[in-house]
Amino acid sequence: MEATRDVVIVGGGVIGSAIAYFLKAAPAFSGTVTVIEKDPSYEFGSTARSWGGVRQQFSTPENIQMSQYTQEFLGQISRLLGIDDTPVDVSYHEQGYLFLAEDRHIPRLYSNNAIQKGLGVNVGLLDADDLARGFPWMNVSDLAGGSLGLSGEGWLDAYSLNQAFRKKAISLGVTYIAQEAVSLDVDANRISAVRLADGTRLPGGHIVNAAGPAAATIAKWAGVDLPVRSRKRFAYSFSCRTEITGCPLLIDPSGVHMRPEGKQFLAGCSPPPENDPDCTDFDVDYGWFEEHIWPILAHRVPAFEAIKLESAWAGHYAYNTIDQNAILGSHPEVTNFYFANGFSGHGLQQSPAVGRAIAELITFGEYRSLDLNRFSFERLMTGEAISEHNIV
Ligand SMILES: Cc1cc2nc3c(=O)[nH]c(=O)nc-3n(C[C@H](O)[C@H](O)[C@H](O)COP(=O)(O)OP(=O)(O)OC[C@H]3O[C@@H](n4cnc5c(N)ncnc54)[C@H](O)[C@@H]3O)c2cc1C
Repeated sequence: MEATRDVVIVGGGVIGSAIAYFLKAAPAFSGTVTVIEKDPSYEFGSTARSWGGVRQQFSTPENIQMSQYTQEFLGQISRLLGIDDTPVDVSYHEQGYLFLAEDRHIPRLYSNNAIQKGLGVNVGLLDADDLARGFPWMNVSDLAGGSLGLSGEGWLDAYSLNQAFRKKAISLGVTYIAQEAVSLDVDANRISAVRLADGTRLPGGHIVNAAGPAAATIAKWAGVDLPVRSRKRFAYSFSCRTEITGCPLLIDPSGVHMRPEGKQFLAGCSPPPENDPDCTDFDVDYGWFEEHIWPILAHRVPAFEAIKLESAWAGHYAYNTIDQNAILGSHPEVTNFYFANGFSGHGLQQSPAVGRAIAELITFGEYRSLDLNRFSFERLMTGEAISEHNIV
């Protein structure tokens, strides 16, 4: 008979693997941790398809603080995730985000800046002249200003971070099972076991839903309606013959975003809500690039009139339909069922803070390092949506 597992995590992406690592790395936690991951190639989850961006320019204090912890974590990543003194390389490239603003966006830019500065974020406000001087390749004719991260922002290889958490977790004693979870046994408001596709029943004390875009399916097995949907996003990779120097991760007022990737560039844009259906396929819409994204890129950076689309991929956000922010912590009624879901477009950078937070909740029954109670499941019931102004 299978021994009862102390913690069973459904999903071994960057979030599930970070939780597994933080549990086993905590001296106060002495139980077993098992991760169920149906896709050992890690090819199809959100993580491997992520842009890997880390930014501090949010408007919600906790979102800022989570990314600040990511910076701290990245600074010590080899010490924390290295095995046998082998350094960990997640290809972190520190470079600021530049949020561009038209006249009508300036009040929001300033109010966001006040929150960010209040938390010690190294960010600068620029006017149109500053933009023209700092980024001579940019068309600033319709811009009133921008907000530039001066340090502590950048991008990394998301797959490598996932694997670093996973390998370290395994080295600390976490068991990964390459199986699909297919149902949950629920007894008197507790989940008693996770059932796997091969018929295995895994009894567990604490069950964590870290299933990314599939999180609502897992929640439904316990009778919980989780407002997280799989929504498709694209990344288009293109080259340009003209050199664009000092290019930040640029967020155009239209929502089109772009950053350098080696000698090439990545671009994308979330669709309008009325054209953003639930979706699980990976088909790429090249028309969205040609008809919508490219004209905006060429307007903003005239050198992008002449570019070559090199490749593209699709991935899925675990889209929180209420407020596009994380849903963290245990369910108010099914109390041994924990959520780490709904990250929409910013879960990669929140993985260290979320891993630490869920490990604290399981170990101590409360957050110890950073109070993330605002992201609780209860807010979905009371309607206290989190209003994050910098959603990309
Ligand atoms: C195009 C794109 C760009 C993005 N850019 C950024 C960015 O710049 N910065 C940022 O912070 N975030 C970004 N994100 C979001 C970020 O990638 C996600 O928030 C993050 O990777 C979520 O990690 P996860 O572990 O929750 O999900 P996933 O990586 O999807 O992991 C969930 C895992 O659960 C497994 N699973 C699901 N169901 C089952 C089951 N029944 N049984 C067993 N296993 C199961 C899946 O196989 C999967 O491996 C982006 C996402 C996309 C798609």
